[in-house]
Amino acid sequence: MARPLIAEIDLDALRHNYRLACECAPESRSVAVIKADAYGHGAVACARALEDIAPAFAVACIEEAVTLREGGITAPIVLLEGIFTADELALVDELGLWMAVHSDWQVEALLAHRPARPIPVWVKVDSGMHRLGFSPERVEAVWQRLSAAAEHARDLHLMSHFATADLEDIGYFERQMARLDSLAQRLGAPLCLANSPATLARPEAHGAWNRPGVMLYGSDPLERPNAVTLRFAPVMTLRSAIIAVRELPAGEPVGYGGRWLTPRPSRIGVVACGYGDGYDRHARDGTPVLVAGKRTAIAGKISMDMLTVDITDIPEADIGSEVVLWGRAANGLVLPVDEVARHCDTISYTLLTGVLPRVPRRYH
Ligand code: PLP
Repeated sequence: MARPLIAEIDLDALRHNYRLACECAPESRSVAVIKADAYGHGAVACARALEDIAPAFAVACIEEAVTLREGGITAPIVLLEGIFTADELALVDELGLWMAVHSDWQVEALLAHRPARPIPVWVKVDSGMHRLGFSPERVEAVWQRLSAAAEHARDLHLMSHFATADLEDIGYFERQMARLDSLAQRLGAPLCLANSPATLARPEAHGAWNRPGVMLYGSDPLERPNAVTLRFAPVMTLRSAIIAVRELPAGEPVGYGGRWLTPRPSRIGVVACGYGDGYDRHARDGTPVLVAGKRTAIAGKISMDMLTVDITDIPEADIGSEVVLWGRAANGLVLPVDEVARHCDTISYTLLTGVLPRVPRRYH
């Protein structure tokens, strides 16, 4: 019998969530962000599942684009950070990629390169995230230069990223948006701005293109859920099983450090999943799990290959019982990855991208 831990990927749920992104922004086209191996879900499988409804995909680097092309994906792929070295342009050309440019050296490299066909380019402006992009003062010159280089670049868009679109306080978002509105008007530029939170909650940021990522995987990026996020379907279920049961009297320590003590005579289930699989070692006592379709909690520290859960109140739980670390149990009950992330003092992005290769992905 194989180790019972798997990451089950529900591709219908992915399509459902992608359609919700399109519903939120009917005037925009939504590029499906599938970087970081589709946030841990498997980029090729996710792209295949979306390719008849998504007009384009976005990745972080050329290696990710190569993987998609080798997997048979023919749709447009945009490199969100552009190239990292000038020699990547030959592949950009060969694979028919689109690219962001955020730095002068990338513009120089592009203009020095003679592509077979002009490359679709998204000019990135730093409207306030202060990570990548030309300053609003400089972007006009770059835009004019690329506009005049029709043999090198085509379909120019202005791209930017929001630092706080997920927050209820929209003050900083509005400052970024005001800079972008004024630039778009001056340059007559089509825009690509919205990540998931802006796709969901900031219609004023919807441009020619949006770039939803985490929402496609069923995770709610907003501080407070809205009518759309309540309709999300979880895409990944991290599912395992109980592999041993300990019956312990009250006051017994469980796991490394011996810090967690059984508060009463307890049944402890040992689960095949640990930080060596990507489960967060910072999960606090009380982090929820579903055992045999019922909610219970982590008890004691996470080990490399195992974790322990309190099954005292689930008498039917035994060796072989289903354990869902996040996602949907066999009885339909859902444990959102966002809820688990809060108990680990992190965000869903790190949990999803952190599921390690030794966990087999199973698609349905
Ligand atoms: N656009 C860019 C440039 C990003 O870096 C990301 C994610 O980090 C996204 C879009 C998608 O963001 P989200 O997953 O919050 O929708």
